[in-house]
Amino acid sequence: MLQESAQGEALRVLRRVFGYDSFRGQQESVIEHVVGGGDAVVLMPTGGGKSLCYQIPALVRRGTGVVISPLIALMQDQVDALRALGVRAGFINSTLDFEERRVVEAEFLAGELDLLYLAPERLRLEATTALLERGEVSLFAIDEAHCVAQWGHDFRPDYLSLSMLGERWPDVPRVALTATATRATHREITERLGMKGARDFVASFDRPNIQYRIVPKSDPRKQLLRFLKDEHEGDAGIVYCLSRNGVEKTAEFLCREGVEAVPYHAGLDAGTRAAHQSRFLREEGLVVVATIAFGMGIDKPDVRFVAHLDLPKSVEGYYQETGRAGRDGLPSTAWLAYGLQDVVQQRKLIDGGEGDESFRRRARAHLDAMLALCETVTCRRARILAYFGQESDGRDPAPCGNCDTCLTPPETWDGTVAAQKVLSTIVRLKRERGQKFGTGQIVDILLGRKSAKVIQFDHDALKVFGVGADMAEAEWRGVVRQLLAQGLVEVEGEYGTLALTDASADVLRGEREVQLRKDVRPPKAPSRSKPK
Ligand code: ADP
Ligand code: ZN
Repeated sequence: MLQESAQGEALRVLRRVFGYDSFRGQQESVIEHVVGGGDAVVLMPTGGGKSLCYQIPALVRRGTGVVISPLIALMQDQVDALRALGVRAGFINSTLDFEERRVVEAEFLAGELDLLYLAPERLRLEATTALLERGEVSLFAIDEAHCVAQWGHDFRPDYLSLSMLGERWPDVPRVALTATATRATHREITERLGMKGARDFVASFDRPNIQYRIVPKSDPRKQLLRFLKDEHEGDAGIVYCLSRNGVEKTAEFLCREGVEAVPYHAGLDAGTRAAHQSRFLREEGLVVVATIAFGMGIDKPDVRFVAHLDLPKSVEGYYQETGRAGRDGLPSTAWLAYGLQDVVQQRKLIDGGEGDESFRRRARAHLDAMLALCETVTCRRARILAYFGQESDGRDPAPCGNCDTCLTPPETWDGTVAAQKVLSTIVRLKRERGQKFGTGQIVDILLGRKSAKVIQFDHDALKVFGVGADMAEAEWRGVVRQLLAQGLVEVEGEYGTLALTDASADVLRGEREVQLRKDVRPPKAPSRSKPK
């Protein structure tokens, strides 16, 4: 009976406060469980409706729901949106001055808040935990819970201290939520937050209305323009670039070409960023060109496409970013252009960047998984779902029919000889002590080009000089890119030197075949010339 009334209460709040008719997916079960005092780990894709999973229990239960979120920049907006619905919400973070903070604290202590948003670093302060102990907490919601996972792509050390919540408030239910959850991350969330007794709610990560497409990069801005003109004229969308400079240049380019586009990155002043973001939310056909600083927590249902001009660092990141498309369930496109230079650049960033060796190893593993997704000849969606551990009964999910590899299955060709040519060139260059050679030099040698650097090192005297004249430069770069993705070549050090891997030896010895995708055209057969 009690159960039933709590359920009825949740539905009433959904309708009265939020104005929705019915729950979506697993919302109702999560809410029922948390209202009843249980802990929950909720894995739901972006746009799945995670917020209500803690907002409604916070409204139904006595006391204040404390929401821990790393997204300080969004707290004001989230709280404003809740207040507009009549929910008594507040936040405490570093942007508040002393007086503002005092007001929120007083409201909390007086039991006048339904929801209180806190940044995770706050909870390391004794003053904060003491404050929470003096008031009444109805539940703890740990948003973006994957931030606790050290093997994840977005680790935040402050999250580790959240394990104390269960110790200090054993009777207060906790709900951890994330949109990124491989099995490993899920396990880490449960362990590190001390939530072994929690119930798991795992929604499907499939976003069937998003069409995934990954194309080889040649002239990315022109390719992007073609894609926009052909398929998304006048649509709202997001274009992601790695660098601020890339963002600026691309936004200018699109404007020149008659596409309404604005830039967004952390180097712009706060006023400009806010103005561009609110235009994006308000207007119908605006394109935002942005670094990944843009998008977290942005809730615009009719984003029709997400385009990447540079390779994301991980499948998690790619999934999260592309997940901002098509929240309204209508057909949308995730489009990515990627090339060899992306791989080399990202490897350099990892090798030359900060962090210890285990951090770098992790970053490389994330990048490798992303590369494998780019180069797969099977269904992209199936790959993504398998990556998130969502294969159905142990088998990979069936081909989806709505991604580029399903729609136009890539042809493959036997690239064993081409691979051997690349690998034996690398072997020969290794003997040049102290010198580092990247892809450019290897390709020049294969093509038989007497560049200044080739002459300088007598590389035109190598046995492999010119053995690749039957293919074009772009095709050789494609071969190297695919060898990288297949782990047959690796990039070393901050100069992007190509090196062999353990697996390369088998190819060189002729004991392993190499299949390549056909966006790299195989060499023309010399014996048969096709009449025009
Ligand atoms: P997430 O945090 O999982 O990315 P949100 O909580 O921001 O997702 O919800 C995504 C969108 O779906 C929001 O606009 C939200 O208002 C809407 N939404 C959530 N639950 C429902 C529901 N039961 N009915 C209709 N719309 C909903
Ligand atoms: Zn598919």
